[in-house]
Amino acid sequence: MTKTYMINGGILNPESPQKCRFIKNGTLIFNEDGHILYCGQRKQSPLLGSVKIGAPADAIVIPGLIDCHTHLSQYYVRGRSGDTLLGWLKNHIFPAERKFKDPKHASRVSKKFYHRLLSNGITCAALYTNFKAGVEAAFAEGHRAGIRAVIGYTMMDRNVPSALKQEPSKTLDECRELFDNNHQKDGRLRFSINPRFAPSCTPGFMKALGYFAQQKDVCVQTHISENIQELAEVKKLFPRSKSYAEVYDRAGLLTPKTLLAHGIHLSRGERQLIKERACGMVHCPSANLFLHSGRFPLEQWYDYPRLALGSDVGAGPSFSMFDVMRDAYYVNMMPLSRLFYLATLGGAKTLGLEKSIGSLQAGKQADFSVIRLSDIHDPCSEELLYDLIFKWDQREIVQVYVGGRKVWPERE
Ligand SMILES: [Zn+2]
Repeated sequence: MTKTYMINGGILNPESPQKCRFIKNGTLIFNEDGHILYCGQRKQSPLLGSVKIGAPADAIVIPGLIDCHTHLSQYYVRGRSGDTLLGWLKNHIFPAERKFKDPKHASRVSKKFYHRLLSNGITCAALYTNFKAGVEAAFAEGHRAGIRAVIGYTMMDRNVPSALKQEPSKTLDECRELFDNNHQKDGRLRFSINPRFAPSCTPGFMKALGYFAQQKDVCVQTHISENIQELAEVKKLFPRSKSYAEVYDRAGLLTPKTLLAHGIHLSRGERQLIKERACGMVHCPSANLFLHSGRFPLEQWYDYPRLALGSDVGAGPSFSMFDVMRDAYYVNMMPLSRLFYLATLGGAKTLGLEKSIGSLQAGKQADFSVIRLSDIHDPCSEELLYDLIFKWDQREIVQVYVGGRKVWPERE
Protein backbone atom coordinates (compact mmCIF):
# COMPACT_ATOMS: atom_id res chain seq x y z
CA MET A 1 0.00 0.00 0.00
CA THR A 2 1.31 3.44 -0.85
CA LYS A 3 2.01 5.85 1.93
CA THR A 4 -0.10 9.00 2.19
CA TYR A 5 0.68 12.34 3.77
CA MET A 6 -1.53 15.06 5.14
CA ILE A 7 -1.12 18.67 6.08
CA ASN A 8 -3.67 20.68 8.03
CA GLY A 9 -4.25 24.42 7.81
CA GLY A 10 -6.15 27.11 6.02
CA ILE A 11 -6.17 26.40 2.28
CA LEU A 12 -6.28 29.19 -0.27
CA ASN A 13 -7.08 27.85 -3.71
CA PRO A 14 -7.85 29.52 -7.06
CA GLU A 15 -10.96 28.14 -8.75
CA SER A 16 -11.45 30.56 -11.65
CA PRO A 17 -10.29 34.08 -12.59
CA GLN A 18 -13.22 35.37 -10.52
CA LYS A 19 -13.07 33.06 -7.56
CA CYS A 20 -10.51 32.13 -4.98
CA ARG A 21 -11.73 29.81 -2.24
CA PHE A 22 -10.52 29.77 1.35
CA ILE A 23 -11.08 26.69 3.52
CA LYS A 24 -10.49 27.65 7.11
CA ASN A 25 -9.96 24.21 8.64
CA GLY A 26 -8.66 22.40 5.62
CA THR A 27 -6.66 19.27 4.89
CA LEU A 28 -4.51 18.39 1.94
CA ILE A 29 -3.75 14.69 1.46
CA PHE A 30 -1.33 13.33 -1.13
CA ASN A 31 0.39 10.05 -1.82
CA GLU A 32 4.07 9.23 -2.06
CA ASP A 33 3.92 9.50 -5.84
CA GLY A 34 3.09 13.17 -5.30
CA HIS A 35 -0.56 13.09 -6.42
CA ILE A 36 -3.22 14.91 -4.45
CA LEU A 37 -5.90 12.57 -3.10
CA TYR A 38 -8.01 15.09 -1.21
CA CYS A 39 -8.18 18.83 -0.66
CA GLY A 40 -11.08 20.19 1.38
CA GLN A 41 -12.68 20.48 4.81
CA ARG A 42 -10.80 18.60 7.49
CA LYS A 43 -13.94 17.09 9.02
CA GLN A 44 -14.93 15.56 5.68
CA SER A 45 -11.49 14.19 4.85
CA PRO A 46 -11.20 10.44 4.24
CA LEU A 47 -9.45 8.43 6.93
CA LEU A 48 -6.38 7.20 5.14
CA GLY A 49 -4.00 6.73 8.04
CA SER A 50 -1.86 9.48 6.57
CA VAL A 51 1.45 10.63 7.96
CA LYS A 52 0.94 14.14 9.31
CA ILE A 53 3.32 16.80 8.10
CA GLY A 54 4.36 19.17 10.84
CA ALA A 55 3.15 22.70 10.19
CA PRO A 56 2.46 25.76 12.34
CA ALA A 57 -1.04 25.89 13.84
CA ASP A 58 -1.82 29.02 11.81
CA ALA A 59 -0.44 27.60 8.54
CA ILE A 60 -1.92 28.69 5.22
CA VAL A 61 -1.42 26.29 2.31
CA ILE A 62 -1.35 27.72 -1.21
CA PRO A 63 -0.61 26.13 -4.59
CA GLY A 64 2.91 26.48 -5.97
CA LEU A 65 3.35 29.83 -7.69
CA ILE A 66 4.19 29.91 -11.40
CA ASP A 67 6.56 32.45 -12.96
CA CYS A 68 6.03 32.37 -16.73
CA HIS A 69 8.94 34.63 -17.69
CA THR A 70 12.33 34.98 -16.01
CA HIS A 71 16.04 35.11 -16.93
CA LEU A 72 18.38 32.85 -14.99
CA SER A 73 21.48 34.47 -16.49
CA GLN A 74 20.43 37.92 -15.22
CA TYR A 75 20.58 36.82 -11.57
CA TYR A 76 23.39 39.18 -10.59
CA VAL A 77 22.23 42.24 -12.52
CA ARG A 78 18.78 42.72 -11.05
CA GLY A 79 18.12 46.32 -10.20
CA ARG A 80 20.68 47.80 -12.63
CA SER A 81 18.79 50.85 -13.70
CA GLY A 82 19.28 54.15 -15.48
CA ASP A 83 18.11 53.27 -18.95
CA THR A 84 15.29 51.85 -21.04
CA LEU A 85 15.32 48.45 -22.76
CA LEU A 86 17.98 48.74 -25.49
CA GLY A 87 20.52 50.70 -23.44
CA TRP A 88 19.93 48.47 -20.43
CA LEU A 89 20.57 45.34 -22.52
CA LYS A 90 23.82 46.77 -23.84
CA ASN A 91 25.18 48.13 -20.57
CA HIS A 92 24.12 45.51 -18.05
CA ILE A 93 22.62 42.40 -19.59
CA PHE A 94 24.92 41.42 -22.43
CA PRO A 95 28.03 41.48 -20.18
CA ALA A 96 26.21 39.28 -17.62
CA GLU A 97 24.95 36.80 -20.19
CA ARG A 98 28.29 36.23 -21.90
CA LYS A 99 29.68 34.76 -18.65
CA PHE A 100 27.45 31.72 -19.11
CA LYS A 101 29.89 30.21 -21.56
CA ASP A 102 31.74 29.10 -18.43
CA PRO A 103 30.02 25.90 -17.17
CA LYS A 104 31.19 26.49 -13.59
CA HIS A 105 29.68 29.97 -13.49
CA ALA A 106 26.48 28.65 -15.11
CA SER A 107 26.17 25.88 -12.48
CA ARG A 108 26.81 28.22 -9.56
CA VAL A 109 24.23 30.75 -10.70
CA SER A 110 21.66 28.10 -11.65
CA LYS A 111 21.85 26.68 -8.14
CA LYS A 112 21.37 30.08 -6.50
CA PHE A 113 18.59 30.98 -8.91
CA TYR A 114 16.50 27.87 -8.16
CA HIS A 115 17.06 28.33 -4.47
CA ARG A 116 15.62 31.84 -4.72
CA LEU A 117 12.63 30.63 -6.73
CA LEU A 118 11.78 27.84 -4.31
CA SER A 119 12.28 29.99 -1.23
CA ASN A 120 9.69 32.34 -2.74
CA GLY A 121 7.19 29.52 -3.19
CA ILE A 122 7.70 29.36 -6.97
CA THR A 123 7.49 25.72 -7.99
CA CYS A 124 7.43 26.19 -11.76
CA ALA A 125 9.22 28.74 -13.97
CA ALA A 126 9.66 29.39 -17.69
CA LEU A 127 13.17 30.73 -18.08
CA TYR A 128 15.98 31.90 -20.30
CA THR A 129 19.65 31.15 -19.80
CA ASN A 130 22.60 31.47 -22.21
CA PHE A 131 24.72 29.07 -24.25
CA LYS A 132 24.67 25.29 -24.36
CA ALA A 133 26.67 25.19 -21.11
CA GLY A 134 24.00 27.34 -19.48
CA VAL A 135 21.19 25.02 -20.56
CA GLU A 136 23.06 21.92 -19.39
CA ALA A 137 23.71 23.54 -16.01
CA ALA A 138 20.09 24.71 -15.72
CA PHE A 139 18.82 21.17 -16.33
CA ALA A 140 21.31 19.53 -13.97
CA GLU A 141 20.70 21.98 -11.12
CA GLY A 142 16.95 22.07 -11.77
CA HIS A 143 16.85 18.30 -11.47
CA ARG A 144 18.78 18.51 -8.20
CA ALA A 145 16.57 21.30 -6.81
CA GLY A 146 13.39 19.37 -7.61
CA ILE A 147 11.70 22.31 -9.36
CA ARG A 148 9.56 22.34 -12.53
CA ALA A 149 10.87 24.49 -15.36
CA VAL A 150 10.78 25.28 -19.05
CA ILE A 151 14.39 25.97 -20.01
CA GLY A 152 15.84 27.50 -23.14
CA TYR A 153 18.83 29.61 -24.13
CA THR A 154 18.59 33.14 -25.41
CA MET A 155 19.18 32.96 -29.15
CA MET A 156 20.70 35.80 -31.16
CA ASP A 157 22.51 35.93 -34.49
CA ARG A 158 22.75 39.66 -35.18
CA ASN A 159 22.94 43.12 -33.61
CA VAL A 160 24.54 41.84 -30.40
CA PRO A 161 28.18 41.67 -29.22
CA SER A 162 30.15 38.97 -31.06
CA ALA A 163 30.60 36.90 -27.87
CA LEU A 164 26.82 36.39 -27.78
CA LYS A 165 26.25 35.97 -31.50
CA GLN A 166 25.33 32.42 -32.50
CA GLU A 167 25.90 30.52 -35.68
CA PRO A 168 22.44 29.23 -36.70
CA SER A 169 23.37 25.74 -37.94
CA LYS A 170 25.56 25.09 -34.88
CA THR A 171 22.76 26.30 -32.60
CA LEU A 172 20.29 23.92 -34.24
CA ASP A 173 22.68 20.99 -33.78
CA GLU A 174 23.00 21.94 -30.12
CA CYS A 175 19.22 22.17 -29.78
CA ARG A 176 18.81 18.64 -31.11
CA GLU A 177 21.34 17.35 -28.61
CA LEU A 178 19.90 19.35 -25.69
CA PHE A 179 16.39 18.21 -26.52
CA ASP A 180 17.38 14.54 -26.76
CA ASN A 181 19.39 14.58 -23.55
CA ASN A 182 17.11 16.64 -21.33
CA HIS A 183 13.54 17.25 -22.47
CA GLN A 184 11.01 15.64 -20.12
CA LYS A 185 13.58 13.19 -18.79
CA ASP A 186 12.35 13.48 -15.21
CA GLY A 187 8.84 14.68 -16.05
CA ARG A 188 9.49 18.14 -14.57
CA LEU A 189 11.96 19.89 -16.88
CA ARG A 190 11.26 20.82 -20.49
CA PHE A 191 13.43 22.26 -23.22
CA SER A 192 12.25 25.34 -25.13
CA ILE A 193 13.32 27.49 -28.06
CA ASN A 194 14.04 31.09 -27.00
CA PRO A 195 14.83 33.61 -29.75
CA ARG A 196 15.57 36.78 -27.72
CA PHE A 197 13.45 39.12 -29.86
CA ALA A 198 13.13 40.01 -33.53
CA PRO A 199 15.85 42.73 -33.59
CA SER A 200 18.54 40.21 -32.61
CA CYS A 201 17.54 37.39 -34.97
CA THR A 202 17.67 37.09 -38.75
CA PRO A 203 14.50 35.90 -40.54
CA GLY A 204 16.24 32.67 -41.62
CA PHE A 205 17.34 31.85 -38.07
CA MET A 206 13.84 32.47 -36.70
CA LYS A 207 12.30 30.31 -39.39
CA ALA A 208 14.64 27.42 -38.58
CA LEU A 209 13.87 27.81 -34.87
CA GLY A 210 10.12 27.92 -35.54
CA TYR A 211 10.40 24.74 -37.61
CA PHE A 212 12.40 22.99 -34.87
CA ALA A 213 9.89 24.00 -32.18
CA GLN A 214 6.94 22.71 -34.19
CA GLN A 215 8.71 19.47 -35.14
CA LYS A 216 9.61 18.70 -31.56
CA ASP A 217 6.40 20.16 -30.12
CA VAL A 218 8.26 22.33 -27.59
CA CYS A 219 7.53 25.78 -26.15
CA VAL A 220 8.78 28.93 -27.82
CA GLN A 221 9.69 31.78 -25.48
CA THR A 222 10.29 35.28 -26.76
CA HIS A 223 9.65 38.99 -26.19
CA ILE A 224 7.28 41.15 -28.21
CA SER A 225 6.44 44.83 -28.39
CA GLU A 226 8.00 45.88 -25.10
CA ASN A 227 9.52 49.23 -25.97
CA ILE A 228 9.01 51.99 -28.55
CA GLN A 229 12.64 52.02 -29.83
CA GLU A 230 12.46 48.24 -30.19
CA LEU A 231 9.37 48.65 -32.43
CA ALA A 232 11.25 51.14 -34.63
CA GLU A 233 14.12 48.64 -34.97
CA VAL A 234 11.72 45.88 -36.02
CA LYS A 235 10.13 48.16 -38.61
CA LYS A 236 13.55 48.98 -40.04
CA LEU A 237 14.82 45.38 -40.06
CA PHE A 238 11.65 43.77 -41.42
CA PRO A 239 10.27 46.26 -43.97
CA ARG A 240 8.12 43.63 -45.67
CA SER A 241 6.21 42.61 -42.54
CA LYS A 242 3.12 44.56 -41.61
CA SER A 243 3.70 44.20 -37.90
CA TYR A 244 5.94 42.79 -35.17
CA ALA A 245 3.56 39.88 -34.57
CA GLU A 246 3.61 39.12 -38.29
CA VAL A 247 7.42 38.83 -38.20
CA TYR A 248 7.07 35.97 -35.71
CA ASP A 249 4.10 34.48 -37.50
CA ARG A 250 6.00 34.32 -40.81
CA ALA A 251 8.73 32.38 -39.00
CA GLY A 252 6.22 29.89 -37.58
CA LEU A 253 6.92 31.09 -34.05
CA LEU A 254 3.32 31.83 -33.03
CA THR A 255 1.93 28.53 -31.78
CA PRO A 256 -0.26 27.39 -28.87
CA LYS A 257 3.02 26.55 -27.11
CA THR A 258 4.45 30.07 -27.49
CA LEU A 259 4.98 32.35 -24.49
CA LEU A 260 5.12 36.01 -25.51
CA ALA A 261 6.39 38.42 -22.87
CA HIS A 262 5.21 42.04 -22.57
CA GLY A 263 2.99 42.89 -25.57
CA ILE A 264 2.60 46.48 -24.37
CA HIS A 265 2.36 48.29 -27.70
CA LEU A 266 0.60 45.71 -29.87
CA SER A 267 -1.96 46.90 -32.40
CA ARG A 268 -5.48 45.55 -32.51
CA GLY A 269 -4.61 43.37 -35.50
CA GLU A 270 -1.58 41.92 -33.72
CA ARG A 271 -3.60 41.08 -30.63
CA GLN A 272 -6.13 39.35 -32.81
CA LEU A 273 -3.43 37.32 -34.59
CA ILE A 274 -1.88 36.26 -31.27
CA LYS A 275 -5.28 35.21 -29.95
CA GLU A 276 -6.07 33.29 -33.14
CA ARG A 277 -2.79 31.41 -32.80
CA ALA A 278 -3.68 30.76 -29.11
CA CYS A 279 -0.25 31.92 -27.86
CA GLY A 280 0.38 32.45 -24.17
CA MET A 281 0.70 36.12 -23.17
CA VAL A 282 2.90 36.91 -20.19
CA HIS A 283 2.43 40.21 -18.40
CA CYS A 284 5.58 41.37 -16.57
CA PRO A 285 4.51 44.48 -14.64
CA SER A 286 7.60 44.89 -12.43
CA ALA A 287 9.93 44.87 -15.44
CA ASN A 288 7.68 47.22 -17.40
CA LEU A 289 7.73 49.70 -14.52
CA PHE A 290 11.47 49.30 -13.98
CA LEU A 291 12.41 49.94 -17.63
CA HIS A 292 9.65 52.53 -18.15
CA SER A 293 8.38 50.51 -21.09
CA GLY A 294 4.73 51.48 -20.79
CA ARG A 295 1.47 50.08 -19.46
CA PHE A 296 0.22 46.62 -20.38
CA PRO A 297 -3.37 47.10 -21.64
CA LEU A 298 -4.98 44.44 -19.46
CA GLU A 299 -8.45 45.47 -20.63
CA GLN A 300 -7.60 43.98 -24.05
CA TRP A 301 -6.72 40.63 -22.52
CA TYR A 302 -9.13 40.44 -19.62
CA ASP A 303 -11.04 37.39 -20.85
CA TYR A 304 -8.17 35.75 -22.67
CA PRO A 305 -7.67 32.30 -21.10
CA ARG A 306 -3.91 32.11 -21.66
CA LEU A 307 -2.68 35.12 -19.72
CA ALA A 308 -0.01 34.76 -17.01
CA LEU A 309 2.41 36.78 -14.91
CA GLY A 310 6.20 36.88 -15.13
CA SER A 311 8.82 38.38 -12.84
CA ASP A 312 11.15 39.03 -15.81
CA VAL A 313 14.15 38.91 -13.49
CA GLY A 314 16.52 40.83 -14.02
CA ALA A 315 14.43 43.72 -15.45
CA GLY A 316 12.08 42.77 -12.66
CA PRO A 317 14.13 43.26 -9.50
CA SER A 318 12.19 40.83 -7.29
CA PHE A 319 11.84 37.06 -7.38
CA SER A 320 8.61 37.19 -5.43
CA MET A 321 5.43 36.57 -7.41
CA PHE A 322 3.60 38.45 -4.64
CA ASP A 323 5.65 41.53 -5.56
CA VAL A 324 4.77 40.93 -9.21
CA MET A 325 1.06 40.68 -8.27
CA ARG A 326 1.38 43.93 -6.31
CA ASP A 327 2.97 45.70 -9.28
CA ALA A 328 0.29 44.30 -11.61
CA TYR A 329 -2.29 45.84 -9.30
CA TYR A 330 -0.50 49.19 -9.42
CA VAL A 331 -0.44 49.07 -13.23
CA ASN A 332 -4.02 47.85 -13.69
CA MET A 333 -6.49 47.80 -10.83
CA MET A 334 -8.15 44.38 -10.65
CA PRO A 335 -9.59 42.05 -8.02
CA LEU A 336 -6.88 40.31 -6.00
CA SER A 337 -8.39 36.90 -6.66
CA ARG A 338 -7.69 37.46 -10.36
CA LEU A 339 -4.08 38.36 -9.61
CA PHE A 340 -3.63 35.22 -7.54
CA TYR A 341 -5.22 33.20 -10.34
CA LEU A 342 -2.76 34.62 -12.90
CA ALA A 343 0.20 33.49 -10.79
CA THR A 344 -1.22 29.99 -10.22
CA LEU A 345 -3.93 28.36 -12.35
CA GLY A 346 -3.68 31.01 -15.09
CA GLY A 347 0.06 30.36 -15.34
CA ALA A 348 -0.57 26.61 -15.55
CA LYS A 349 -3.11 27.15 -18.36
CA THR A 350 -0.67 29.37 -20.21
CA LEU A 351 1.92 26.58 -20.04
CA GLY A 352 -0.67 23.94 -20.98
CA LEU A 353 -0.13 22.23 -17.62
CA GLU A 354 -3.46 22.96 -15.92
CA LYS A 355 -4.33 19.27 -15.66
CA SER A 356 -1.38 18.65 -13.39
CA ILE A 357 -0.53 21.91 -11.58
CA GLY A 358 -1.87 25.39 -10.76
CA SER A 359 -4.36 24.54 -8.02
CA LEU A 360 -4.83 22.03 -5.21
CA GLN A 361 -7.22 19.45 -6.53
CA ALA A 362 -7.48 15.66 -6.35
CA GLY A 363 -5.53 14.10 -9.21
CA LYS A 364 -3.10 17.00 -9.61
CA GLN A 365 0.48 17.17 -8.41
CA ALA A 366 1.09 18.20 -4.80
CA ASP A 367 2.94 21.45 -5.54
CA PHE A 368 2.34 23.80 -2.63
CA SER A 369 3.77 26.21 -0.09
CA VAL A 370 3.08 26.53 3.60
CA ILE A 371 2.87 30.14 4.64
CA ARG A 372 2.53 31.81 7.97
CA LEU A 373 0.95 35.23 8.30
CA SER A 374 1.29 37.34 11.38
CA ASP A 375 -1.42 39.67 12.66
CA ILE A 376 -4.38 38.12 10.97
CA HIS A 377 -7.51 36.98 12.78
CA ASP A 378 -10.44 35.05 11.40
CA PRO A 379 -9.37 35.55 7.78
CA CYS A 380 -11.37 35.28 4.59
CA SER A 381 -9.86 34.88 1.13
CA GLU A 382 -9.89 38.59 0.24
CA GLU A 383 -8.18 39.59 3.50
CA LEU A 384 -5.59 36.88 3.08
CA LEU A 385 -4.82 38.05 -0.42
CA TYR A 386 -4.43 41.65 0.78
CA ASP A 387 -1.91 40.52 3.34
CA LEU A 388 -0.05 38.17 1.01
CA ILE A 389 0.26 40.71 -1.78
CA PHE A 390 0.71 44.03 0.00
CA LYS A 391 2.27 43.22 3.37
CA TRP A 392 5.46 41.35 2.58
CA ASP A 393 6.82 41.88 6.08
CA GLN A 394 3.97 39.86 7.55
CA ARG A 395 4.31 36.68 5.57
CA GLU A 396 6.80 33.92 5.94
CA ILE A 397 7.15 30.97 3.58
CA VAL A 398 7.81 28.01 5.86
CA GLN A 399 7.95 25.01 3.52
CA VAL A 400 7.68 24.34 -0.20
CA TYR A 401 6.76 21.05 -1.92
CA VAL A 402 6.95 19.96 -5.55
CA GLY A 403 5.19 16.71 -6.51
CA GLY A 404 4.82 15.87 -2.82
CA ARG A 405 8.55 16.21 -2.14
CA LYS A 406 9.83 18.88 0.18
CA VAL A 407 12.19 21.10 -1.80
CA TRP A 408 12.58 24.04 0.56
CA PRO A 409 14.10 24.43 3.06
CA GLU A 410 16.54 21.80 1.86
CA ARG A 411 17.46 20.85 5.43
CA GLU A 412 15.93 21.62 8.77
ZN1 LIG B 1 12.54 38.99 -20.52
